[in-house]
Amino acid sequence: MTVTKDGSIIDSEGKVIFFSTERFINDICLGDCCFICGVKPSEREFNNEHILSKWLLRRYSLFDRTITLPNGATVRYGQYTVSCCKECNSLMGEVIERPISQVVRKGRYAINDFASKDYGLKMFVWMGLIFLKTHLKDRTFRFHRDTRNGKELIADDYDWESLHHIHSVIRRFYTGCFVEKEAIGSFFTIPVKPQASPDRFDFGKLYQAQTMLLRLDDTAMLVVFDDAGCAMRYLCQTFERITGPVSEIQLHEIMAELAFLNLQLKERPQFCTEYDTVNDTCRIIGIRPKQLERNHDPQLRGKLMLEALRQFLPHMSVPNYTQEEVLEGIKSGNFSFLFNDDGEFITDGFTPYQPT
Ligand SMILES: [Zn+2]
Repeated sequence: MTVTKDGSIIDSEGKVIFFSTERFINDICLGDCCFICGVKPSEREFNNEHILSKWLLRRYSLFDRTITLPNGATVRYGQYTVSCCKECNSLMGEVIERPISQVVRKGRYAINDFASKDYGLKMFVWMGLIFLKTHLKDRTFRFHRDTRNGKELIADDYDWESLHHIHSVIRRFYTGCFVEKEAIGSFFTIPVKPQASPDRFDFGKLYQAQTMLLRLDDTAMLVVFDDAGCAMRYLCQTFERITGPVSEIQLHEIMAELAFLNLQLKERPQFCTEYDTVNDTCRIIGIRPKQLERNHDPQLRGKLMLEALRQFLPHMSVPNYTQEEVLEGIKSGNFSFLFNDDGEFITDGFTPYQPT
């Protein structure tokens, strides 16, 4: 075992067990090394890894569908790839994608069963990989579609340091690191009742709050990567009032709520990796804040809601409200699609989405 100058840990076979934040940023985020093992393209053969795996694209007929980037531009899922060394690409297919594709094929109960094991670690890693890859990919897209307005890339503003924890956890299939429960963020599954949309797949993320959702048929998975489970503790009370499957819009509101709870934490959880040189093992630990306290800024909630609901807004109609009133309500942070004015779960009552 060697500790490099920057604080990375390399084992006796030369494998990087732990990337220091500095090495993660320089080699992977700003460099072109493999985002799993860290080798340079000159040292090993590289190929393209789909950000959403091919089995997902096939299952939900997504090859020709598009994802909307943070600047509003769209890109086809079939071309949405990042470069990665061939060995790591194969390994990910074998130990992550294949078992998850088998579980998803079996349906909701199998997904729930799989997700409940090891405090959701395997799903957390799978979703974390997707989240990280989307951000690495944003290094290749210009922010302005018209280059006369600037040549910045979407990823230029990213705070790469904040993705270091996700990177450490998702590499566990490669490093063998043990991940403690406290190092895992909020994670849960929830049944979804598709309303007007024919889509069986949904993907949403809120970058700054490190919050993401993935819906596969009638099951959605939501995750906050860096809150050590704190947002979920608050959300438990809200969940008690959700008495049935949620609609697509309600699902996005839950994502915004999780993001809001995470960003409002007064004290951030801490994460680190410990290496035991005697037994040659490593462990990723999380330390939750002693006092779980948070701020309450409704405008931030409004901002997150707007971002989370962006795809629905142009088509949304809510009985008894004009479009402007709905928009103003969302912006103020006080509008809810989950609960009515009496705090009861809304099972029906608005047209959530009318595909054009
Ligand atoms: Zn690699």
